[in-house]
Amino acid sequence: MKTQLTEQDKSEYLKSGGDHCPFCETPDQKIGGVNLSGGHVNIEGKYAHQDVRCENCGSEWTDVFERVEIQETETEESAHS
Ligand SMILES: [Zn+2]
Repeated sequence: MKTQLTEQDKSEYLKSGGDHCPFCETPDQKIGGVNLSGGHVNIEGKYAHQDVRCENCGSEWTDVFERVEIQETETEESAHS
């Protein structure tokens, strides 16, 4: 198992939408349960950070999200007009 991620590991993780552990490469969805557990989300400005833990190998890392869009909330009124 890896202890350090290469740039390639990181880009593969990002390209896949974070569907596997970048350290042991176990897919997120295993039969009978979820492998990667996301912790508290911390939002700062346009970025959000979430600690993620792999339940298979115990590795931990931080996913970084960026605010990319805004959507208007659909109210009862606009849904019927
Ligand atoms: Zn893992």
